[in-house]
Amino acid sequence: MFTSLSDRLTGTFANLRGKGRLSESDVNKTIRDIRMALIDADVALPVVKEFTSAVRERATGAEVSGALNPAQQVIKIVNEELVGILGGNTRELTLAKRPPTVIMLAGLQGSGKTTFAGKLGARLKEQGHTPILVAADLQRPNAVTQLEVVAERAGVSVFAPERGNIGGHDAGAAGEGTRSFGDPVSVAREGIAHAQSRQHDVVIVDTAGRLAVDADLMQQAADIRTAISPDEVLFVIDAMIGQAAVETAQAFQQGVGFTGVVLSKLDGDARGGAALSVARTTGRPIMFASTGEGVRDLEVFHPDRMASRILDMGDVLTLIEQAERAFDAGQAEEMQRKFLAAEDFTFDDFLQQMAALKKMGSLKSMLKMMPGMGQMAAQLDNLDEREFDRVEAMVRSMTPFERNHPKQINGSRRARIARGSGVQVSEVNQLLERFGEAQKMMKQLARGGGMPGMPGLPG
Ligand code: GDP
Repeated sequence: MFTSLSDRLTGTFANLRGKGRLSESDVNKTIRDIRMALIDADVALPVVKEFTSAVRERATGAEVSGALNPAQQVIKIVNEELVGILGGNTRELTLAKRPPTVIMLAGLQGSGKTTFAGKLGARLKEQGHTPILVAADLQRPNAVTQLEVVAERAGVSVFAPERGNIGGHDAGAAGEGTRSFGDPVSVAREGIAHAQSRQHDVVIVDTAGRLAVDADLMQQAADIRTAISPDEVLFVIDAMIGQAAVETAQAFQQGVGFTGVVLSKLDGDARGGAALSVARTTGRPIMFASTGEGVRDLEVFHPDRMASRILDMGDVLTLIEQAERAFDAGQAEEMQRKFLAAEDFTFDDFLQQMAALKKMGSLKSMLKMMPGMGQMAAQLDNLDEREFDRVEAMVRSMTPFERNHPKQINGSRRARIARGSGVQVSEVNQLLERFGEAQKMMKQLARGGGMPGMPGLPG
């Protein structure tokens, strides 16, 4: 799935690694590489342009700021823009307040509608619904029979009063016009009534498409939509269709209209980029990804997960997120201000720093996998987390007054703190002693310049 696009983008980011600041030519080269990768993956040109200009604007002048280095910042920007192009938030099916929910499928012949009908039926059944499939594709040879087979495999009911085009006739080929094999609009309408009487809470209506966009069939689909006013119209599109995707999607949007997109055949080695353009150019979300011929090969489409899959950087993105969360810019500034003002470092400050370090601690295993980060991981290895917890317990047993005035912690206070945190008084003494030294050291450092470290750490 999107393998070559993925490889290309990953290669681009590798070139940025180790840069402390991105020069204009770094940004230009990166944007050029990203543009070529997207074009080669068949992403529609207007989408490519929009994407690259957004990335350029945000990446220019990216410096080491906060928790991220420039390469990580560019990855983050590209990721966010990609999520945007893929539609932003995950969009779930809208179920009708009063059942049955009606879902109509539209798309070209061979796009995977019938297969998807079965998959969606199976999925809804698993979720406790009682779906029924309605065979309103009377055009494609054997479509009705195929829907029956698919329904049986999915273990769901099917409504198929017409046999449709039974084999052989290549309906409408070579200017023959659309031959009639029954009235699909009536079938759809009856299907809903049938579902209501049999207590099916979701109706999935399969409709006909043609190999190329066709005015008659488009009108037929539009008529079906008018007749049954579906809660959702899902446009199914083959991810391998290439640059024609955008045009096809726009034709269906104008001809029938749809509420969501289903990408099918994402399991193939399709370049897939055209399909990526569909959400942006039609403004409709991609809701499902079909990834095989089997009845279970269906995924809810999550733009964020798909973007990280394309960037092939799931781990790195998680790391970036966690580093950002652990790094609280406001907190760091306050710490620096105090430091420069040579104010006393208190136990409250200490708790804050410790919390930040702890969050980083959970990144240990990931840090190890990252180039250049091994050393930092080794340092984190030296922190004994149990000792950490004991120190934290002692600090948490102090009153706010004590945290801000460590020198006032006398013998009886020490005994209370020891009891409260389940340690020996000698350990409290040790902590206070080390903390006092650290405070002194910080003051000295502040006079001489330099950054505060982590005082009073155990071990
Ligand atoms: P329809 O004409 O739109 O109803 O398309 P079909 O559901 O009949 O699908 C056309 C062909 O594509 C069939 O051979 C399906 O088995 C195949 N197909 C459908 N969805 C997928 C998919 O997600 N992956 C793969 N590999 N094949 C698919």
